[in-house]
Amino acid sequence: MSDDWEESEADKLARIEMEAYDAKIKEEQDAWKAKWPEYCNKCGGSGIVTFLQGHPYGSTTAYEEFAEPCDCILNGFCPRCGATTMNADPDKEVEHQTCSACGWEQDRPDVCPEY
Ligand SMILES: [Zn+2]
Ligand SMILES: [Zn+2]
Repeated sequence: MSDDWEESEADKLARIEMEAYDAKIKEEQDAWKAKWPEYCNKCGGSGIVTFLQGHPYGSTTAYEEFAEPCDCILNGFCPRCGATTMNADPDKEVEHQTCSACGWEQDRPDVCPEY
């Protein structure tokens, strides 16, 4: 048995493991989506959208990550069940909200499983 053979065998095992992991996440995602068909697919149920903004930095560009409330919350919809339970008044505190319909919590949201 050569070293090459052993290496490709290890690669194969790693690939099988990764495929099993992907399939498991996919299954969890499907189950989550089946449970919450009205979830917001923009934020995946987190209520937050993150984006990168670039700034010129010397000769390169520095990227900074920003997070802001998702449109679902801003429009008063729960990110998970889609009920109109969120406070959409911009003058009021919009953090630490809880959905009275499904129990979704902004502090520790139950989000769609990701890879
Ligand atoms: Zn959303
Ligand atoms: Zn909800």
